[in-house]
Amino acid sequence: MSKHTISGHCLCGAVTVEATPSKPHVEACHCDMCRRWGGIAFLGLQCGPNVSFTGEEHIVRYKSSDWAERGFCGKCGSNLFYHFVPAGNYGLLAGLFDDMGDVTFSEEIFVDEKPDYYSFAGDRPRKTGEQVIAEAKEAGFEF
Ligand SMILES: [Zn+2]
Ligand SMILES: [Zn+2]
Repeated sequence: MSKHTISGHCLCGAVTVEATPSKPHVEACHCDMCRRWGGIAFLGLQCGPNVSFTGEEHIVRYKSSDWAERGFCGKCGSNLFYHFVPAGNYGLLAGLFDDMGDVTFSEEIFVDEKPDYYSFAGDRPRKTGEQVIAEAKEAGFEF
C-alpha cells in the first residue's frame, strides 16, 4: 500500500496537523504514563519526524521523560502527540483524524501495565514494557 498524507485537528481547531504515517498501523500503549495523560490507552500512528502543524503557538509541549515530550492544545486540551526526541519521531493520536485511510490495529505495548477493567478485542502482537525497551536498546537508543 502506498503512503499518503493524512490531516487532522484538535477539538477546537486551533491546531491542525499533516503527516504521512510510516505504516498504515494504529498502535496502542497501555503504560501508566499514557493512561494518566489520556485517561485510557494511547492510540496513535507512527509518523516519523516530518510532521507539519499549524497553530504551533497553541501547542504546549510537556517533557514527560528524558527522551520524550507530549503535546496538547493549550486552548482546548486535546492531546496531540508523543514525540520521541532521540529519533525525532512523532506518534500522533489516532483520534485527531477523520480519515486515516485503510489502517490496521497492529500492536499493543506495555500490556503488563494494563489494568484489568478494559481490553481491546482481536488478535495482534502484545508486548510487555521489558520487551519494548529491549527492542529500543537493540535499535541503539539509550534510556
Ligand atoms: Zn484545540
Ligand atoms: Zn505509554
